[in-house]
Order: sequence, then C-alpha cells, then structure tokens
Amino acid sequence: SDHQLEYPESPDAMDWAELYPAYVDGATGKMTQEVTIADIGCGFGGLMVDLSPEFPKDLILGMEIRVQVTNYVEDRIIALRNNNLGSTEHNYQNINVLRANAMKFLPNFFKRGQLSKMFFCFPDPHFKQRKHKARIITNTLLSEYAYVLREGGTVYTITDVEDLHHWMVKHLTEHPLFERLDGEWEAQDKCVSIMRNATEEGKKVERKRGDKFVACFKRLPSPQLS
Ligand code: SAM
Repeated sequence: SDHQLEYPESPDAMDWAELYPAYVDGATGKMTQEVTIADIGCGFGGLMVDLSPEFPKDLILGMEIRVQVTNYVEDRIIALRNNNLGSTEHNYQNINVLRANAMKFLPNFFKRGQLSKMFFCFPDPHFKQRKHKARIITNTLLSEYAYVLREGGTVYTITDVEDLHHWMVKHLTEHPLFERLDGEWEAQDKCVSIMRNATEEGKKVERKRGDKFVACFKRLPSPQLS
C-alpha cells in the first residue's frame, strides 16, 4: 500500500541534492543537472547500474514502490559509490532510487519535457481482466508519461508476458503522442541491449529461457494550438 508515501508539491520542491550530492554547485547550492532518465518500477536496480557508466552525463532515477526493495537499491548504490570513490572512470554518482508510486503524481516529480528516456522493464502483468486497469501502461497514464517526456524522447518497454506486450503496444500505438520505433532502430540502440540483459527480472527470464518482447516508442511533438 502507498498511503504513507509523500509527494513533492512540485519538481522544484524535491530535494534532488540529497539523491545526487555530486551534482550540487558548491557556490550556489543549486543542482547543476536534472534527472533525464527514469526507470519505472526499477526493482533491484540492475538496469540503472548498467546504464550509469553508459550515460555519465545523465542523472538516472529509479522509482520503486516496495520499501524493502527500495532500501536494497539505496544500499547497493551507496556500496557502488564507496567502492569506486577514487575512480576517475566512473563512480555511480548519477543514479539513485526513490520510493514512489509511479502511477501517481508523476508531474509532481518531473517538469514538462524533462525526461529523455523512460523505461518500463518487466512491469507487473496483472493477468486478470478486472486487474488490467492496475497496469502501468494505460491511456491516462500515457498522457502523463508524454507530459514529462521531451519531444523525440523514448519510451522503452520489455516483458516476457506476450499478452502484456500486445497491451502495451496497443495503448502506446493508439496514443497520439507516441510512435513505435522499428526493429532496425532497436538493433542499433544501446539501451535496448542493456534493457534485455541488465535487469534482475530479465536475467530470471533468461535462465528459464523465456521470450522477451521489446517495444520502443518515440515521443511525438505536441500538436500546435493555434
Ligand atoms: N524492472 C525490474 C526488473 O526488470 O528487474 C523489476 C520488475 S518487477 C516484475 C516490477 C516492479 O515494479 C516491482 O519491483 C514492483 O514493486 C514495481 N512496481 C509495481 N507497481 C509500481 C508503481 N506503481 N510504482 C513504482 N513501482 C512499482
């Protein structure tokens, strides 16, 4: 249950400095960068750990609703930072996790057009028909995702549940602000291969030799109001 969760009144009310202390300007105390990549329902954080060195100039945020899982990811990131303290290569300062219900108040966390990438990796399938409204991809939520994503930004989805794959593709394709990217695009995009292999759920599916269904979508420009 998420009734004890707190939400910032607005993105500016968030204490981003606490999550990314290396990105605070010493003179002004202000953040030098904003989060641009979000991993929705990040689970144990494997995706962020692999994305981190690939996108050293981006701030990456995992959102996870389960307390214990969030705590685990926090500890994991602290350990990664400590183990790479003196590293001139990479020290994982650009990733962190927030306990949050990503299906609620996302625009309280991110400004309009702030994100360049959003990941939905192996979301909970909610198999039963009457539970479908609990799925993380719905028409209403897609409009929120479109709001926080910049034009040209990307939504990544992957699942081992074929029915959920078709559901996500249907809803994203039908939405006026998203357009599916083709297989050729997927083949050249480094995030697609990271997403296939980095997450804990993806590894589990690999061990069971299950299928992985990928679909990626581009955020289209909002229609001009005249
Ligand atoms: N993405 C991870 C991976 O691929 O290994 C985790 C996949 S797991 C099947 C789905 C995760 O989404 C769970 O950790 C669950 O707690 C989280 N989750 C479900 N609903 C959520 C919500 N509304 N907001 C944030 N996280 C959520």
